[in-house]
Amino acid sequence: MILIQRIKSCFHPVILKQVAMYSANINIKGALEDFSLEATTFPYYSFVPRLYNFCRSLGFEPGKILPSRAFCSDENQGYPGILIAKHFGAFPFNHGRVGGIVATDRHGPHAEHGKDLIIIHASHVGYDPEDGSFGNYHRRHTGHFETTPSCGKIHSVLDWYLDEYTFAKENIFLHCQNNELLVSIDNQILNENKIEGLYLHMDRFVEGEKHGGFRTRRAYSTSKCYAASSELHALLGDTAWPEKGRQPIGDRLLPELFGFKRHVSGDPETHGLLEENLVAPMPWIVSSKFPLLTAAQANTQAEFDRTYRTVVNFKEYVGKRIVFISGLNIDISPHENQMYPLTYFVPWAAFVQKIDNNHIVLEQDDIVARLLEQNEINPDELNLEGAIQKMKDDPEINIQIPA
Ligand SMILES: [Zn+2]
Repeated sequence: MILIQRIKSCFHPVILKQVAMYSANINIKGALEDFSLEATTFPYYSFVPRLYNFCRSLGFEPGKILPSRAFCSDENQGYPGILIAKHFGAFPFNHGRVGGIVATDRHGPHAEHGKDLIIIHASHVGYDPEDGSFGNYHRRHTGHFETTPSCGKIHSVLDWYLDEYTFAKENIFLHCQNNELLVSIDNQILNENKIEGLYLHMDRFVEGEKHGGFRTRRAYSTSKCYAASSELHALLGDTAWPEKGRQPIGDRLLPELFGFKRHVSGDPETHGLLEENLVAPMPWIVSSKFPLLTAAQANTQAEFDRTYRTVVNFKEYVGKRIVFISGLNIDISPHENQMYPLTYFVPWAAFVQKIDNNHIVLEQDDIVARLLEQNEINPDELNLEGAIQKMKDDPEINIQIPA
């Protein structure tokens, strides 16, 4: 664990234009790998008091802090909400849209309802401690303790892409003839006129002609055969091609070799922003060991970048203390007799604004180190049961019926 503070950037200029975290010209693999799960993971019962004490260290005033959460709507996001209420003494304002999207149009009322402000944002993913897998979650309240994907919304977005990827893995074949390495590709994948679907980066895949284009070695009834490019040969290695017959490319269809054409609806109530956030890194998502984990990480990164630019520009946030932190909620899949589910948090980045408007962005190492410095005990923690009991003990309020 790196404990040295490295606050990398101060006094950011106001940025007026939205910039996408993932665009085609960045090293997507590297950006995804920079979100580390190694020694960066906090159980919520430890994360929230540390976060409260971190806010206190920045001058946040007890009793005047309004927390907000930007979580998916799943019932398994409730435990973090309860802990936020206990430690900050207020039920969190709701900045969340399904799929872990931040409702940036709700900054106004959030700013109006509190003096010092915090937004905790997270995408989420299920985790099964029995087999160490990410993406599934036991739904304790279903009739037969069913196991379903978590996050279900992200899964519904990925479904189409995973089907396209599976089809391509099974319908691109590697084979040899007269010591020449060949690749046969289904016509559906090759169809350049299709409006939506997986497409190959053909220049990386097959040998090009001197004057452009790709000469087919042979046309079959539903596919075409090409000479494999030297780049594909180097990428997959000699052993990828069978000595006899042909074999599907399978998991060797690496993310560097393909992309997706997809019409993405701009409507935030359907897939909207979530799908927009995931389209560019999608080849790395569908080919990763746990697509729902990689997708949740990518969405967290994209949403932090997008939301940070709306917070830093927002008029009603000027002159207020703000902490905006993004991360990943890992929903530990409960066993059948467990009373309440457990959630872990992996911070990705945080934006901190002081009352004089100076602000900094803390990268993952920095925010993890700052949280680890804090005490796990919160002296201001609210006794929720006691507070509820007091409501019962106090004299009843008679609601006067309007005449
Ligand atoms: Zn969800």
